[in-house]
Amino acid sequence: MKGTTLKRSSKPSGKSEAWRARDRKVLWHPFTQQQLWMDEDFPVIVSGKGATLVDADGNKYLDGVSSLWCNLHGHANREINAAMKKQLDRVAHATFLGLTNPPAIELGELLVKIAPPGLTRVFYSDNGSTAVEVALKMAFQYWQQNGRPERTKFITLDAAYHGDTLGAVSLGGIEVFHGVYKPLLFQTIRGPATYAYRCEKAKTLADCGKHCLEDIEAVLKTRAREIAGIVIEPLIQGAGGMITQPPGFVKSLRGLCDKYDVFLIADEVMTGFGRTGRMFACELEEVTPDFMAVSKGLTGGYLPLAATLTTERVYEGFLGEFKDRRTFYHGHTYTGNPLACAAALAAVGMLVRPGSIEKIRKKIHLFGNLLQEFYAIDQVGDIRTCGLIAGIELVKDPTTKEQYPFELRLGHRVTLEARQRGVIVRPLGDTLVLMPPPAITDPELTRLVEVVAESTRAALASLTS
Ligand code: PLP
Repeated sequence: MKGTTLKRSSKPSGKSEAWRARDRKVLWHPFTQQQLWMDEDFPVIVSGKGATLVDADGNKYLDGVSSLWCNLHGHANREINAAMKKQLDRVAHATFLGLTNPPAIELGELLVKIAPPGLTRVFYSDNGSTAVEVALKMAFQYWQQNGRPERTKFITLDAAYHGDTLGAVSLGGIEVFHGVYKPLLFQTIRGPATYAYRCEKAKTLADCGKHCLEDIEAVLKTRAREIAGIVIEPLIQGAGGMITQPPGFVKSLRGLCDKYDVFLIADEVMTGFGRTGRMFACELEEVTPDFMAVSKGLTGGYLPLAATLTTERVYEGFLGEFKDRRTFYHGHTYTGNPLACAAALAAVGMLVRPGSIEKIRKKIHLFGNLLQEFYAIDQVGDIRTCGLIAGIELVKDPTTKEQYPFELRLGHRVTLEARQRGVIVRPLGDTLVLMPPPAITDPELTRLVEVVAESTRAALASLTS
Protein backbone atom coordinates (compact mmCIF):
# COMPACT_ATOMS: atom_id res chain seq x y z
CA MET A 1 0.00 0.00 0.00
CA LYS A 2 1.32 3.41 -0.89
CA GLY A 3 2.26 5.93 1.76
CA THR A 4 0.29 9.06 2.45
CA THR A 5 2.23 11.57 0.40
CA LEU A 6 -0.18 12.74 -2.24
CA LYS A 7 1.99 14.98 -4.37
CA ARG A 8 0.59 15.03 -7.83
CA SER A 9 2.21 16.88 -10.69
CA SER A 10 -0.14 18.34 -13.22
CA LYS A 11 1.41 19.66 -16.39
CA PRO A 12 4.41 21.49 -14.96
CA SER A 13 4.35 25.06 -16.01
CA GLY A 14 5.86 28.37 -15.31
CA LYS A 15 2.89 30.54 -14.52
CA SER A 16 1.06 28.37 -12.00
CA GLU A 17 4.27 27.29 -10.34
CA ALA A 18 5.40 30.87 -9.85
CA TRP A 19 2.07 31.75 -8.18
CA ARG A 20 2.20 28.60 -6.05
CA ALA A 21 5.65 29.49 -4.78
CA ARG A 22 4.42 32.94 -3.71
CA ASP A 23 1.28 31.44 -2.11
CA ARG A 24 3.36 28.99 -0.08
CA LYS A 25 5.51 31.82 1.26
CA VAL A 26 2.77 33.97 2.80
CA LEU A 27 -0.65 32.29 2.86
CA TRP A 28 -2.44 29.93 5.20
CA HIS A 29 -5.43 28.14 3.66
CA PRO A 30 -8.69 27.14 5.37
CA PHE A 31 -9.16 23.54 6.53
CA THR A 32 -5.71 22.74 5.16
CA GLN A 33 -2.69 20.97 6.65
CA GLN A 34 -0.12 23.46 5.41
CA GLN A 35 2.75 20.98 5.76
CA LEU A 36 1.18 18.86 3.01
CA TRP A 37 0.11 21.92 1.00
CA MET A 38 3.81 22.65 0.43
CA ASP A 39 4.06 19.48 -1.67
CA GLU A 40 0.86 19.81 -3.65
CA ASP A 41 0.37 21.27 -7.09
CA PHE A 42 -2.84 23.12 -6.30
CA PRO A 43 -4.56 24.95 -9.15
CA VAL A 44 -4.20 28.71 -9.38
CA ILE A 45 -7.57 29.93 -10.61
CA VAL A 46 -7.49 33.04 -12.76
CA SER A 47 -10.88 33.06 -14.47
CA GLY A 48 -14.16 31.25 -14.89
CA LYS A 49 -17.13 30.99 -17.17
CA GLY A 50 -20.32 29.09 -16.49
CA ALA A 51 -19.48 25.89 -14.62
CA THR A 52 -15.82 26.05 -15.69
CA LEU A 53 -12.79 27.42 -13.85
CA VAL A 54 -9.52 28.16 -15.62
CA ASP A 55 -6.03 28.07 -14.08
CA ALA A 56 -3.00 30.24 -14.73
CA ASP A 57 -1.79 27.84 -17.43
CA GLY A 58 -5.09 27.72 -19.25
CA ASN A 59 -6.18 24.30 -17.89
CA LYS A 60 -9.95 24.06 -17.53
CA TYR A 61 -11.82 22.43 -14.65
CA LEU A 62 -15.49 21.73 -14.12
CA ASP A 63 -16.54 23.23 -10.80
CA GLY A 64 -18.07 20.16 -9.15
CA VAL A 65 -18.74 21.82 -5.79
CA SER A 66 -20.12 25.20 -6.86
CA SER A 67 -17.04 26.90 -5.39
CA LEU A 68 -17.85 25.54 -1.94
CA TRP A 69 -21.58 25.17 -2.38
CA CYS A 70 -22.41 28.75 -3.31
CA ASN A 71 -22.31 29.30 -7.05
CA LEU A 72 -25.73 29.14 -8.72
CA HIS A 73 -25.74 30.85 -12.10
CA GLY A 74 -22.19 30.08 -13.20
CA HIS A 75 -18.99 32.10 -13.03
CA ALA A 76 -18.74 35.49 -14.75
CA ASN A 77 -22.48 35.62 -15.16
CA ARG A 78 -23.38 38.55 -17.38
CA GLU A 79 -26.38 39.74 -15.37
CA ILE A 80 -24.69 39.62 -11.99
CA ASN A 81 -21.56 41.27 -13.37
CA ALA A 82 -23.63 44.06 -14.93
CA ALA A 83 -25.60 44.67 -11.73
CA MET A 84 -22.39 44.87 -9.73
CA LYS A 85 -20.69 47.20 -12.20
CA LYS A 86 -23.69 49.52 -12.13
CA GLN A 87 -23.65 49.62 -8.34
CA LEU A 88 -19.88 50.03 -8.27
CA ASP A 89 -20.18 53.26 -10.20
CA ARG A 90 -22.62 54.54 -7.56
CA VAL A 91 -21.16 53.44 -4.24
CA ALA A 92 -19.40 50.27 -3.07
CA HIS A 93 -20.01 50.63 0.64
CA ALA A 94 -21.66 52.93 3.15
CA THR A 95 -22.37 51.87 6.70
CA PHE A 96 -25.74 50.39 7.60
CA LEU A 97 -25.42 51.78 11.12
CA GLY A 98 -27.52 54.93 10.95
CA LEU A 99 -27.84 54.82 7.14
CA THR A 100 -29.58 52.64 4.62
CA ASN A 101 -29.31 52.01 0.86
CA PRO A 102 -31.65 51.01 -1.99
CA PRO A 103 -30.10 47.60 -2.89
CA ALA A 104 -30.36 46.47 0.76
CA ILE A 105 -33.98 47.64 0.96
CA GLU A 106 -34.97 46.02 -2.34
CA LEU A 107 -33.22 42.78 -1.42
CA GLY A 108 -34.94 42.72 1.97
CA GLU A 109 -38.32 43.11 0.25
CA LEU A 110 -37.48 40.35 -2.20
CA LEU A 111 -36.32 37.96 0.54
CA VAL A 112 -39.52 38.51 2.54
CA LYS A 113 -41.53 37.85 -0.61
CA ILE A 114 -39.88 34.50 -1.37
CA ALA A 115 -39.28 33.26 2.20
CA PRO A 116 -41.65 30.89 3.97
CA PRO A 117 -44.72 32.93 5.01
CA GLY A 118 -44.34 34.74 8.32
CA LEU A 119 -40.64 35.55 7.96
CA THR A 120 -41.01 39.28 7.62
CA ARG A 121 -37.81 40.78 9.01
CA VAL A 122 -34.32 40.66 7.53
CA PHE A 123 -31.05 41.24 9.39
CA TYR A 124 -27.89 41.28 7.26
CA SER A 125 -24.43 39.98 8.05
CA ASP A 126 -21.45 38.71 6.05
CA ASN A 127 -21.36 34.92 5.96
CA GLY A 128 -23.10 31.74 7.00
CA SER A 129 -21.49 31.60 10.43
CA THR A 130 -22.54 35.12 11.33
CA ALA A 131 -26.07 34.53 10.03
CA VAL A 132 -26.31 31.68 12.55
CA GLU A 133 -24.68 33.76 15.32
CA VAL A 134 -27.31 36.44 14.75
CA ALA A 135 -30.11 33.88 15.09
CA LEU A 136 -28.57 32.51 18.31
CA LYS A 137 -28.15 35.93 19.87
CA MET A 138 -31.60 37.10 18.83
CA ALA A 139 -33.26 33.95 20.19
CA PHE A 140 -31.33 34.18 23.44
CA GLN A 141 -31.99 37.88 23.92
CA TYR A 142 -35.67 37.51 23.00
CA TRP A 143 -36.24 35.16 25.93
CA GLN A 144 -34.13 37.33 28.27
CA GLN A 145 -36.32 40.37 27.70
CA ASN A 146 -39.67 38.67 27.17
CA GLY A 147 -40.28 36.95 30.45
CA ARG A 148 -38.43 33.63 30.06
CA PRO A 149 -34.80 34.38 30.98
CA GLU A 150 -34.24 30.76 31.98
CA ARG A 151 -34.44 29.74 28.30
CA THR A 152 -30.72 29.87 27.57
CA LYS A 153 -29.82 26.55 25.93
CA PHE A 154 -29.90 25.31 22.36
CA ILE A 155 -30.56 21.82 21.07
CA THR A 156 -28.38 20.91 18.13
CA LEU A 157 -27.80 17.65 16.25
CA ASP A 158 -24.86 15.28 16.10
CA ALA A 159 -22.71 15.99 13.04
CA ALA A 160 -24.08 19.53 12.89
CA TYR A 161 -22.09 22.21 11.12
CA HIS A 162 -23.09 25.85 11.36
CA GLY A 163 -19.81 27.64 10.73
CA ASP A 164 -16.51 28.46 12.38
CA THR A 165 -17.15 31.38 14.72
CA LEU A 166 -17.29 30.25 18.33
CA GLY A 167 -21.08 30.42 18.71
CA ALA A 168 -21.49 28.37 15.56
CA VAL A 169 -18.76 25.98 16.71
CA SER A 170 -20.62 25.55 20.02
CA LEU A 171 -23.49 24.14 17.96
CA GLY A 172 -21.15 21.99 15.91
CA GLY A 173 -20.99 18.24 16.25
CA ILE A 174 -17.99 17.23 14.15
CA GLU A 175 -15.24 16.06 16.49
CA VAL A 176 -12.37 16.53 14.03
CA PHE A 177 -13.33 20.17 13.41
CA HIS A 178 -14.76 21.18 16.77
CA GLY A 179 -13.32 18.93 19.49
CA VAL A 180 -10.23 20.96 20.33
CA TYR A 181 -12.24 24.12 21.06
CA LYS A 182 -14.53 22.53 23.68
CA PRO A 183 -13.12 24.51 26.62
CA LEU A 184 -14.03 27.74 24.80
CA LEU A 185 -17.61 26.82 23.90
CA PHE A 186 -21.02 27.27 25.52
CA GLN A 187 -22.90 24.11 26.39
CA THR A 188 -25.57 22.75 24.08
CA ILE A 189 -27.92 19.80 24.33
CA ARG A 190 -27.23 17.34 21.56
CA GLY A 191 -29.85 15.38 19.70
CA PRO A 192 -29.05 12.53 17.32
CA ALA A 193 -28.55 12.95 13.59
CA THR A 194 -30.63 10.96 11.11
CA TYR A 195 -27.55 9.05 9.97
CA ALA A 196 -29.50 5.96 8.93
CA TYR A 197 -26.51 4.26 7.30
CA ARG A 198 -24.84 3.88 10.68
CA CYS A 199 -27.92 3.98 12.89
CA GLU A 200 -27.89 1.38 15.66
CA LYS A 201 -31.60 1.62 16.38
CA ALA A 202 -33.18 1.51 12.92
CA LYS A 203 -32.74 0.03 9.48
CA THR A 204 -34.59 2.63 7.40
CA LEU A 205 -34.25 6.39 7.17
CA ALA A 206 -37.88 6.81 8.21
CA ASP A 207 -37.39 4.75 11.38
CA CYS A 208 -34.10 6.46 12.14
CA GLY A 209 -35.91 9.82 11.88
CA LYS A 210 -38.62 8.58 14.23
CA HIS A 211 -36.08 7.54 16.86
CA CYS A 212 -34.30 10.88 16.58
CA LEU A 213 -37.56 12.77 17.08
CA GLU A 214 -38.40 10.62 20.11
CA ASP A 215 -35.02 11.40 21.64
CA ILE A 216 -35.47 15.12 21.03
CA GLU A 217 -38.98 15.09 22.49
CA ALA A 218 -37.70 13.24 25.54
CA VAL A 219 -35.33 16.16 26.16
CA LEU A 220 -38.06 18.73 25.59
CA LYS A 221 -40.43 16.94 27.97
CA THR A 222 -38.07 17.41 30.88
CA ARG A 223 -36.05 20.48 29.93
CA ALA A 224 -38.15 22.69 27.64
CA ARG A 225 -38.19 25.52 30.16
CA GLU A 226 -34.38 25.87 29.76
CA ILE A 227 -34.39 25.71 25.96
CA ALA A 228 -34.21 28.76 23.71
CA GLY A 229 -34.28 26.94 20.39
CA ILE A 230 -33.52 23.93 18.23
CA VAL A 231 -31.00 24.55 15.47
CA ILE A 232 -31.08 22.40 12.35
CA GLU A 233 -29.82 22.17 8.81
CA PRO A 234 -33.15 21.33 7.18
CA LEU A 235 -33.45 18.26 4.89
CA ILE A 236 -29.72 17.56 4.83
CA GLN A 237 -26.79 18.12 7.18
CA GLY A 238 -23.91 19.26 5.01
CA ALA A 239 -20.37 19.24 6.38
CA GLY A 240 -21.23 16.41 8.77
CA GLY A 241 -21.32 14.09 5.74
CA MET A 242 -24.42 14.99 3.69
CA ILE A 243 -26.78 13.30 6.12
CA THR A 244 -30.32 13.38 4.78
CA GLN A 245 -33.48 13.58 6.86
CA PRO A 246 -36.62 11.60 6.07
CA PRO A 247 -39.68 13.40 4.68
CA GLY A 248 -41.69 14.92 7.51
CA PHE A 249 -38.71 15.25 9.87
CA VAL A 250 -38.52 19.05 9.74
CA LYS A 251 -42.30 19.35 9.95
CA SER A 252 -42.35 17.13 13.04
CA LEU A 253 -39.63 19.24 14.63
CA ARG A 254 -41.73 22.33 13.92
CA GLY A 255 -44.60 20.58 15.70
CA LEU A 256 -42.40 19.88 18.73
CA CYS A 257 -41.17 23.47 18.80
CA ASP A 258 -44.78 24.71 18.78
CA LYS A 259 -45.82 22.25 21.47
CA TYR A 260 -43.03 23.31 23.83
CA ASP A 261 -42.82 26.97 22.71
CA VAL A 262 -39.22 26.65 21.59
CA PHE A 263 -37.77 28.50 18.58
CA LEU A 264 -36.94 26.56 15.43
CA ILE A 265 -33.77 27.93 13.83
CA ALA A 266 -33.26 26.71 10.27
CA ASP A 267 -29.76 27.07 8.89
CA GLU A 268 -30.40 27.24 5.14
CA VAL A 269 -26.90 28.44 4.37
CA MET A 270 -26.25 25.40 2.16
CA THR A 271 -29.81 24.46 1.18
CA GLY A 272 -31.22 27.89 0.32
CA PHE A 273 -31.87 29.39 -3.12
CA GLY A 274 -32.99 26.48 -5.23
CA ARG A 275 -30.34 23.93 -4.29
CA THR A 276 -32.95 21.39 -3.12
CA GLY A 277 -35.37 22.01 -5.98
CA ARG A 278 -37.35 24.52 -3.89
CA MET A 279 -36.40 28.08 -3.12
CA PHE A 280 -35.77 26.97 0.49
CA ALA A 281 -35.61 23.49 2.00
CA CYS A 282 -38.23 24.46 4.61
CA GLU A 283 -40.70 25.04 1.79
CA LEU A 284 -40.67 21.35 0.93
CA GLU A 285 -41.85 20.57 4.46
CA GLU A 286 -44.28 23.52 4.48
CA VAL A 287 -42.53 24.85 7.54
CA THR A 288 -41.89 28.40 8.64
CA PRO A 289 -38.99 28.45 11.10
CA ASP A 290 -38.70 31.24 13.67
CA PHE A 291 -35.28 32.11 12.27
CA MET A 292 -33.81 31.28 8.89
CA ALA A 293 -30.12 31.85 8.18
CA VAL A 294 -29.09 32.23 4.54
CA SER A 295 -25.82 33.04 2.76
CA LYS A 296 -23.76 31.16 0.10
CA GLY A 297 -26.21 31.21 -2.86
CA LEU A 298 -27.67 34.55 -1.79
CA THR A 299 -25.28 36.43 -4.09
CA GLY A 300 -25.12 33.56 -6.56
CA GLY A 301 -21.73 32.81 -4.99
CA TYR A 302 -20.20 36.17 -5.88
CA LEU A 303 -19.68 38.13 -2.69
CA PRO A 304 -19.88 37.48 1.05
CA LEU A 305 -23.36 38.37 2.25
CA ALA A 306 -25.78 36.72 4.64
CA ALA A 307 -29.18 37.34 6.12
CA THR A 308 -31.09 36.13 9.15
CA LEU A 309 -34.83 36.25 8.63
CA THR A 310 -37.28 36.22 11.50
CA THR A 311 -40.88 36.86 12.48
CA GLU A 312 -42.84 39.87 13.74
CA ARG A 313 -43.12 38.13 17.11
CA VAL A 314 -39.35 38.18 17.51
CA TYR A 315 -38.98 41.66 16.02
CA GLU A 316 -41.59 43.12 18.36
CA GLY A 317 -39.86 41.47 21.31
CA PHE A 318 -36.98 43.90 20.74
CA LEU A 319 -39.05 47.10 20.54
CA GLY A 320 -39.15 49.58 23.38
CA GLU A 321 -37.84 52.89 24.64
CA PHE A 322 -34.10 53.44 24.34
CA LYS A 323 -33.79 53.37 28.12
CA ASP A 324 -35.39 49.89 28.15
CA ARG A 325 -32.18 48.42 26.64
CA ARG A 326 -34.02 46.01 24.35
CA THR A 327 -31.88 46.93 21.33
CA PHE A 328 -30.13 44.17 19.39
CA TYR A 329 -26.53 45.30 19.84
CA HIS A 330 -25.00 43.44 16.94
CA GLY A 331 -23.65 44.49 13.54
CA HIS A 332 -20.67 44.30 11.24
CA THR A 333 -18.72 46.87 9.27
CA TYR A 334 -20.07 45.46 6.01
CA THR A 335 -23.66 44.85 7.17
CA GLY A 336 -26.02 45.66 4.28
CA ASN A 337 -23.12 46.25 1.86
CA PRO A 338 -24.72 47.78 -1.27
CA LEU A 339 -22.42 46.03 -3.75
CA ALA A 340 -23.12 42.59 -2.29
CA CYS A 341 -26.85 43.39 -2.11
CA ALA A 342 -26.80 44.43 -5.78
CA ALA A 343 -25.19 41.09 -6.68
CA ALA A 344 -27.80 39.29 -4.57
CA LEU A 345 -30.67 41.18 -6.19
CA ALA A 346 -29.47 40.02 -9.59
CA ALA A 347 -28.82 36.43 -8.45
CA VAL A 348 -32.11 35.97 -6.59
CA GLY A 349 -33.90 37.92 -9.31
CA MET A 350 -32.83 35.27 -11.84
CA LEU A 351 -34.10 32.51 -9.54
CA VAL A 352 -37.57 33.97 -9.15
CA ARG A 353 -38.08 34.16 -12.89
CA PRO A 354 -40.82 31.79 -14.08
CA GLY A 355 -39.42 28.37 -14.90
CA SER A 356 -36.11 28.85 -13.07
CA ILE A 357 -36.69 26.43 -10.21
CA GLU A 358 -38.41 23.94 -12.55
CA LYS A 359 -35.24 23.96 -14.65
CA ILE A 360 -33.21 23.09 -11.56
CA ARG A 361 -35.61 20.23 -10.79
CA LYS A 362 -34.97 18.75 -14.23
CA LYS A 363 -31.25 18.93 -13.54
CA ILE A 364 -31.80 17.22 -10.19
CA HIS A 365 -33.62 14.40 -11.95
CA LEU A 366 -30.74 13.86 -14.37
CA PHE A 367 -28.24 14.09 -11.50
CA GLY A 368 -30.07 11.35 -9.59
CA ASN A 369 -29.99 9.05 -12.61
CA LEU A 370 -26.32 9.67 -13.30
CA LEU A 371 -25.31 8.94 -9.72
CA GLN A 372 -26.52 5.36 -10.07
CA GLU A 373 -23.17 4.66 -11.73
CA PHE A 374 -21.53 4.81 -8.31
CA TYR A 375 -23.41 1.73 -7.11
CA ALA A 376 -21.19 -0.32 -9.44
CA ILE A 377 -18.18 0.55 -7.26
CA ASP A 378 -17.81 -2.02 -4.47
CA GLN A 379 -16.48 0.44 -1.93
CA VAL A 380 -19.47 2.76 -2.20
CA GLY A 381 -21.30 2.16 1.07
CA ASP A 382 -24.03 4.74 0.80
CA ILE A 383 -25.22 7.45 -1.57
CA ARG A 384 -27.22 10.29 -0.03
CA THR A 385 -28.81 12.94 -2.17
CA CYS A 386 -31.01 15.95 -1.76
CA GLY A 387 -31.59 18.14 -4.80
CA LEU A 388 -28.30 19.06 -6.43
CA ILE A 389 -26.36 17.74 -3.45
CA ALA A 390 -24.81 14.30 -3.20
CA GLY A 391 -22.66 12.59 -0.59
CA ILE A 392 -21.07 9.29 -1.59
CA GLU A 393 -19.64 7.44 1.39
CA LEU A 394 -16.69 5.17 0.62
CA VAL A 395 -15.97 2.29 2.96
CA LYS A 396 -13.26 -0.34 3.12
CA ASP A 397 -15.76 -3.10 3.72
CA PRO A 398 -19.34 -2.53 2.63
CA THR A 399 -20.55 -5.49 4.72
CA THR A 400 -19.16 -4.28 8.04
CA LYS A 401 -19.13 -0.59 6.98
CA GLU A 402 -15.53 -0.44 8.19
CA GLN A 403 -13.89 2.83 7.21
CA TYR A 404 -10.50 3.37 5.61
CA PRO A 405 -7.78 4.64 7.95
CA PHE A 406 -8.11 8.42 8.34
CA GLU A 407 -4.50 9.01 7.31
CA LEU A 408 -4.94 7.33 3.92
CA ARG A 409 -7.01 10.32 2.80
CA LEU A 410 -8.95 8.34 0.25
CA GLY A 411 -11.38 11.19 -0.39
CA HIS A 412 -8.49 13.52 -1.06
CA ARG A 413 -6.96 10.99 -3.44
CA VAL A 414 -10.19 11.12 -5.43
CA THR A 415 -9.91 14.92 -5.50
CA LEU A 416 -6.41 14.69 -6.97
CA GLU A 417 -7.41 12.10 -9.56
CA ALA A 418 -10.41 14.24 -10.56
CA ARG A 419 -8.21 17.30 -10.86
CA GLN A 420 -5.97 15.43 -13.30
CA ARG A 421 -9.09 14.80 -15.35
CA GLY A 422 -10.28 18.41 -15.27
CA VAL A 423 -12.78 18.36 -12.42
CA ILE A 424 -12.73 20.16 -9.06
CA VAL A 425 -14.29 18.34 -6.11
CA ARG A 426 -13.67 18.45 -2.38
CA PRO A 427 -14.66 15.57 -0.11
CA LEU A 428 -15.71 15.41 3.53
CA GLY A 429 -13.28 12.77 4.75
CA ASP A 430 -14.11 9.68 2.69
CA THR A 431 -17.53 10.98 1.72
CA LEU A 432 -17.28 12.38 -1.79
CA VAL A 433 -19.31 15.51 -2.34
CA LEU A 434 -20.86 16.51 -5.62
CA MET A 435 -22.66 19.81 -5.64
CA PRO A 436 -22.65 21.26 -9.14
CA PRO A 437 -23.90 24.76 -9.85
CA PRO A 438 -27.48 24.65 -11.15
CA ALA A 439 -26.17 26.47 -14.23
CA ILE A 440 -24.18 23.41 -15.29
CA THR A 441 -25.25 22.05 -18.67
CA ASP A 442 -26.51 18.48 -19.05
CA PRO A 443 -23.39 17.28 -20.92
CA GLU A 444 -21.18 18.91 -18.29
CA LEU A 445 -23.14 17.25 -15.49
CA THR A 446 -22.78 13.90 -17.22
CA ARG A 447 -19.05 14.43 -17.56
CA LEU A 448 -18.73 15.53 -13.96
CA VAL A 449 -20.31 12.37 -12.58
CA GLU A 450 -18.41 10.10 -15.00
CA VAL A 451 -15.07 11.69 -14.17
CA VAL A 452 -15.63 11.45 -10.42
CA ALA A 453 -16.62 7.79 -10.73
CA GLU A 454 -13.51 7.09 -12.82
CA SER A 455 -11.38 9.04 -10.34
CA THR A 456 -12.81 7.02 -7.48
CA ARG A 457 -11.80 3.80 -9.19
CA ALA A 458 -8.31 5.20 -9.85
CA ALA A 459 -7.93 6.34 -6.23
CA LEU A 460 -9.01 2.95 -4.93
CA ALA A 461 -6.54 1.26 -7.29
CA SER A 462 -3.76 3.54 -6.00
CA LEU A 463 -4.24 2.07 -2.52
CA THR A 464 -3.24 -1.37 -3.69
CA SER A 465 -0.72 -0.63 -6.43
N1 PLP B 1 -24.14 26.62 7.89
C1 PLP B 1 -24.07 25.65 6.98
C2 PLP B 1 -25.19 24.68 6.85
C3 PLP B 1 -22.96 25.54 6.15
O1 PLP B 1 -22.88 24.54 5.26
C4 PLP B 1 -21.92 26.50 6.28
C5 PLP B 1 -20.73 26.42 5.43
O2 PLP B 1 -20.45 25.47 4.77
C6 PLP B 1 -22.06 27.48 7.25
C7 PLP B 1 -23.18 27.53 8.02
C8 PLP B 1 -20.97 28.51 7.43
O3 PLP B 1 -20.96 29.40 6.38
P1 PLP B 1 -19.67 30.32 6.11
O4 PLP B 1 -18.58 29.41 5.70
O5 PLP B 1 -20.11 31.26 5.05
O6 PLP B 1 -19.39 31.01 7.40
